[in-house]
Amino acid sequence: MNTKEAIVIGLGISGCSAARLLAESGYTVTCFEGESHIGGSLFEEIRPNGIRVQTHGPSVFHTDSEKVYQFIKRFGAFFPYNHRVFLSYQNKMVPLPLNANSLQVIFGNRQADALLSRLSAAFPGIKRISADRLIDSHDAKLIDLGRFIIENILTQSINRKDGSSFIPADDSYMNDAFVDIGNDDCYYTDSIQAMPMQGFMSIMENMIDHQAISVYLNTDALSRISLHQDSTTILFDGVPFKAPIIYTPSIDKLFDYRFGALPYRTGKVSFLDVQTDFQNECAVLLTPKNKDTIRITESKYMTLQDISGNTSLMLESPYTESSKGMGEPFEPVVNADSMKLYSKYADLAKAYPSLHLLGRIACFRNYSISESIEQAIGTVSGF
Ligand SMILES: Cc1cc2nc3c(=O)[nH]c(=O)nc-3n(C[C@H](O)[C@H](O)[C@H](O)COP(=O)(O)OP(=O)(O)OC[C@H]3O[C@@H](n4cnc5c(N)ncnc54)[C@H](O)[C@@H]3O)c2cc1C
Repeated sequence: MNTKEAIVIGLGISGCSAARLLAESGYTVTCFEGESHIGGSLFEEIRPNGIRVQTHGPSVFHTDSEKVYQFIKRFGAFFPYNHRVFLSYQNKMVPLPLNANSLQVIFGNRQADALLSRLSAAFPGIKRISADRLIDSHDAKLIDLGRFIIENILTQSINRKDGSSFIPADDSYMNDAFVDIGNDDCYYTDSIQAMPMQGFMSIMENMIDHQAISVYLNTDALSRISLHQDSTTILFDGVPFKAPIIYTPSIDKLFDYRFGALPYRTGKVSFLDVQTDFQNECAVLLTPKNKDTIRITESKYMTLQDISGNTSLMLESPYTESSKGMGEPFEPVVNADSMKLYSKYADLAKAYPSLHLLGRIACFRNYSISESIEQAIGTVSGF
């Protein structure tokens, strides 16, 4: 019989991991999810042709943490998966991040060799160099290469020009902005790169399948949770709740946008089912110059499903900046101004001892799946 209680708000990968860890540490866990389903950013659907698609954008599990991998693998089998992303550039297919092969496709062999020599000389011992660092180099040819990346790969629509950096400093899954000094065209460099055989939804459903976990869907947690006017106590259904509350949604909403809304990016997605085995040559194709579709994902490459004669494409529209509404796909727009605003909210949150912020939205950091789980493990082990 559990005697300790905890509340988890939001059932994306962060909330599901935390709920499971709490249950296994002897807590009785009550979870609230605003949507009619769990999953958050990792929500998946099955298309009429049977293909499983990631509704909010292609997401791949990658990590250097054996601890995280051992944890997530408990909830479903994984298969090794090396993610490959291509850029559509002047009718050519260019591997991303840019590497020796891509430079040859774009600039021809001689110019590519010259660029690679310059890269090695300017950045000895560094495998992947960001567009930011190229721009800051003192080599005119490398500065041009940095500009090439910004103008041809990082679209205006993704709005990577926030603040002084073209790449959000915390963006762990944004490898488009790099050039690899060798010919490694794997999108990620982590030692573990894998996909769940049955998808991420199955993993998260298994995580919360525990007798000590109760789940309430379609429940805006802020209809059950409120802030006491003493500015230190959280009320649950009007009664002070001193036990841990894991909070994963946006923090500005919790404090009723007292200092203003935090900025997020969001994009629209649509799906196209096609009667052919495979439509594209890779899982993800970037088309940054297209004003309607900036990224096309062919899910079958990522799900390993054996469905012949059919495929599904996910088309992503240019991102726009917006404040968060519940359940939208989005990513925090991290820059100096937004971080200043965020830290005002984080300071308010610190005054509530039972409140624990977790995940990319509540913490306003572009965490990967692995980092989200690692944070959940660290948070719960601190109780
Ligand atoms: C387009 C895209 C691609 C990505 N690609 C990768 C990748 O390839 N590899 C990788 O490792 N990471 C990737 N990431 C990051 C990774 O998906 C996220 O870090 C992770 O899924 C975030 O999980 P979370 O639980 O912290 O947040 P979320 O998944 O956003 O979960 C928050 C949950 O809170 C719920 N909620 C909101 N408000 C309320 C409320 N008031 N009451 C109750 N519930 C509420 C939401 O409905 C949601 O379910 C990607 C992210 C995006 C957006």
